[in-house]
Amino acid sequence: KLYNQMQDLKGNIRVYCRVRPLVGQPNNPGIIRNVEEDSISLIMASKNGKEVKKTFTFNKVFGPSATQGEVFSDTQPLIRSVLDGFNVCIFAYGQTGSGKTHTMSGPNNLTEETVGVNYRALRDLFYLSEQRKETIHYDISVQMLEIYNEQVRDLLMTETSNKRLEIRNSSHNNGINVPDANLVPVSSTADVLNLMNLGQKNRAVSATAMNDRSSRSHSCLTVHVQGRELTSGNSLRGCIHLVDLAGSERVDKSEVIGDRLKEAQHINKSLSALGDVIASLAQKQSHVPYRNSKLTQLLQDSLGGQAKTLMFVHISPEPEALGESISTLKFAERVS
Ligand code: ADP
Ligand code: MG
Repeated sequence: KLYNQMQDLKGNIRVYCRVRPLVGQPNNPGIIRNVEEDSISLIMASKNGKEVKKTFTFNKVFGPSATQGEVFSDTQPLIRSVLDGFNVCIFAYGQTGSGKTHTMSGPNNLTEETVGVNYRALRDLFYLSEQRKETIHYDISVQMLEIYNEQVRDLLMTETSNKRLEIRNSSHNNGINVPDANLVPVSSTADVLNLMNLGQKNRAVSATAMNDRSSRSHSCLTVHVQGRELTSGNSLRGCIHLVDLAGSERVDKSEVIGDRLKEAQHINKSLSALGDVIASLAQKQSHVPYRNSKLTQLLQDSLGGQAKTLMFVHISPEPEALGESISTLKFAERVS
């Protein structure tokens, strides 16, 4: 197991697939078959009562019964590397309803067992920094942003504002940053839970006005870690971006107009820009097209180079979701 994780750590880009259970029918596999450690089959069609299957492989596959704890345990080595000065991005990709928010944040009623990657990542950061406190002092701070229609908004603002924020690239100040967004120092998981609640609330405020905006915007929880070695005085920086992406479903352009069409075009543009960036990194191309979306601009210094990327692709088991699942799997294939 440990050996597998070490092997896994060698690649800087990895893709995990997660399938959620069928809503209300946990024992019904839907169109999912043969869930293995690193592969999964989908029923593409049924001919004369025979199933036509296609198998997809990933670095790791989590079936419908995988727990939040199991999903996180394969993510843990990445969290550790943030404290060693690496930049990390963890993405949740998939159509609306496929389980992105469940993986990153957890379900609506959170318990110790059901909290998602975000909370567990911060809990680990605190735990590990405490363990190292005799040798390194760490300062940990958190930012939470939303990208909607190619505009960046602060989710940790204390009063409602629709201020658009600028992404800056400054060589002296931690590379890429959003200077006008709140950067809040945290020292415990309780601090973090409060901030996540504030972020959720700020997201929800716009949701009532615009009708479930959360599925049409990207949210990005960024944790900045700054360490100072007590004996040498040497310092290091690392950060982790935890990104709940907008729903990847294709919108029928003939059926939507106005704001909905604009949203769909922005989502399409930024998800394909993200795919282009990761694919060009995976293929070790010399030009990486970071400039094509706000999302890839924001994450520029955490994608590529020494940085580590984990993409969770989410699949729904319902037969009706087959088309979207296939397009999600194609996206995954491209970036791995
Ligand atoms: P998304 O964020 O991709 O739109 P959600 O995370 O909101 O999707 O999931 C849709 C629904 O399915 C929610 O009610 C969620 O609690 C449930 N769900 C998602 N993934 C799982 C899972 N692995 N196990 C149990 N329920 C899940
Ligand atoms: Mg969601």
